[in-house]
Amino acid sequence: MDEPLKGDAMPGRLTAHEAASRVEALRREIEHNTYLYYALDAPEISDAAYDSLMRELRELEEAFPELASSDSPTKRVGGYVEKQFSAVRHDRRMYSLDNAMDEAELEAWMDGIQKLYGSLPALCCELKIDGSSIALTYRDGLLVQAATRGDGTTGEDVTANVMEVADIPRALRREALEEVANPDVPLEVRGEIYMPKASFDALNLEAQAEGKKQFANPRNAAAGSLRQKDPKVTASRDLATFLYAISRNDAIRVKGQWELLAWLKRAGFHVNPDVALCQTREEVLAFCAASLEKRGSLPYEIDGVVVKVNDFALQDAAGFTSRAPKWAIAFKFPPEEKTTLLRDITVQVGRTGALTPVAELDPVLVAGSVVARATLHNEDEVHRKDVRVGDTVIVRKAGDVIPEVLGPVISLRPADALVWEAPKTCPSCGSPVIREEGEAQLRCVSIDCPAQALERLLHWVSRDAMDIDGMGEEIIGRLVEIGRMNDVADFYSLTVEELEQLHMGRTNKDGNAISLGRTTAAKLIDAIQASKDRDLARVICGLGIRHIGKNTAAELVETYPSMEALKDASEEALQAVHGIGQRAAASIWTFLRTPDNIDVIERLQDAGVTMVAAQRSGQDKPQTLSGLTFVLTGTLTNLRLSREEAADALKAYGAKVSSSVSKSTSFVAVGDNPGSKYDKAVKLGIPVLDEAQLKTIIDTGKPPVL
Ligand SMILES: [Zn+2]
Repeated sequence: MDEPLKGDAMPGRLTAHEAASRVEALRREIEHNTYLYYALDAPEISDAAYDSLMRELRELEEAFPELASSDSPTKRVGGYVEKQFSAVRHDRRMYSLDNAMDEAELEAWMDGIQKLYGSLPALCCELKIDGSSIALTYRDGLLVQAATRGDGTTGEDVTANVMEVADIPRALRREALEEVANPDVPLEVRGEIYMPKASFDALNLEAQAEGKKQFANPRNAAAGSLRQKDPKVTASRDLATFLYAISRNDAIRVKGQWELLAWLKRAGFHVNPDVALCQTREEVLAFCAASLEKRGSLPYEIDGVVVKVNDFALQDAAGFTSRAPKWAIAFKFPPEEKTTLLRDITVQVGRTGALTPVAELDPVLVAGSVVARATLHNEDEVHRKDVRVGDTVIVRKAGDVIPEVLGPVISLRPADALVWEAPKTCPSCGSPVIREEGEAQLRCVSIDCPAQALERLLHWVSRDAMDIDGMGEEIIGRLVEIGRMNDVADFYSLTVEELEQLHMGRTNKDGNAISLGRTTAAKLIDAIQASKDRDLARVICGLGIRHIGKNTAAELVETYPSMEALKDASEEALQAVHGIGQRAAASIWTFLRTPDNIDVIERLQDAGVTMVAAQRSGQDKPQTLSGLTFVLTGTLTNLRLSREEAADALKAYGAKVSSSVSKSTSFVAVGDNPGSKYDKAVKLGIPVLDEAQLKTIIDTGKPPVL
């Protein structure tokens, strides 16, 4: 992402009338969910989706001030104490933390801290567990009371239920008690109660089987389980805890947060193991980056990192604002779900003829990038999710995963929302579409389908395949349109003269057709010629055989180092190749026995395209770089290597080459015009290599000496 975008939904301009009815609908929906959330712990939508609706409402109220109202949900703050449980006044207020929504805000907070103390003090970093806050009171070392956070000052008494949670100690360990400053004063220990992801899934499966309402997320499941009328129900739920604070820092004879965590562990509490005592801001940022990266693989949900000034004396010196301590901040991970408007559902024809419905969305910022389209996978999915054109939908993007439409917000559905109907014919060639038995996908099986041809050709030139620079959708699309290209072998009969004259279907201001021109044409032909020497795995990948991607193609070449050998392999033998399943084996076997495909492969071979695997010189090289991870960025001008080639050279010595910079990156090698990866390397304090250093490594295989 080059430039962060402000705001969430970016709807087109609404008329005052449209805005009024949208505001009305949003308020109703938000209020409904506020009630479900606070009173019943059973929201129908995720927190992120809720926030997204709230933000849209706020923006509309700002854009149309006449619609503002004092009883709008935007004017009220949540917080809700149920009558059913008796109220408990906390020993001291349970503050919430101020949030840093991105790295810049975290940096700004650290700037403030540095200014306050004159230099940056040690900062204790902990994962922010996405659970429900809990306060446990121990008297004479025994658990006597447990309360929810409530509004921060007063919570609900959930003692009977907490007694059923297995991992909360009823009594503190004796040796830890010796460090309690005043044994006569009750000790309030604070932390988070949560439900592990696996237990949450199991609970919801069970609820589904029994036709009961499911929980929206693990946090609500934890909060709901904690506030049961019957403690036996709580006991049946798999709840766990991480404790991290006490109400008065002077209650234990420790000087800071780091020591407190160690004491909590000695006392018998579960303390999250992912903590870091950081001396520099780079260490803090690295911890945040690493935590975000491992987020998906943890058995419980986290939604950020809490950064605290470690030293208690320094904390006291900083004090509190009216809302939150000044000495701590919550670095929030980017939200992974947003709401936006579903404008249309279009159909895309893939290179294998599969028809995929695609959601066309009002662009919205999700997890740090703008999403305007998302796959709806297939006909059944569209109907199962019941998404209709005109719906407000929830869009999710987790980590690097492709954006996905989770479902509609039914209560915001306009009366004229359209139920989508799958096309009967291919939108590209008009041939009837079929759906094979056992398949979810509709398919165009026409051999002359231009959309399939275009996708196949684009796949051939793509980075993972033949990597033909400059050959893009516009040029290939034009060549398909005029009937000059139909299969990948057609690339190799193109001439400079032909391309030079290629009219791009547009005219310049004088009304003359725009053509490619000699220089561009010559460059393209050079790139096509150069692609003949790509390795066999790329050729196989480029053919676009169903179920055969970049990695499976590489596996095939390991066992069958030539196209001839591959053609001779039986289906059974193919199945025995590591990473090749039954479907992939059947797919490649059939592909290599289809006359049209054999014809294309023969024409490629005649044109001089590699059909034999290169001798793997890399395997002879000593694995001197094993255990090291490199990231390459910028253009390697002096080295005269593509980044890909440089990466292959490093891999030959056993190095790993990664596409993103993280804490585990060993070196970042930088060419001309490096991008954000360079900035990130500097931020994380990862050693940066220039081209000359990279060249030495590639030539000698020796790790750099810094
Ligand atoms: Zn078609």
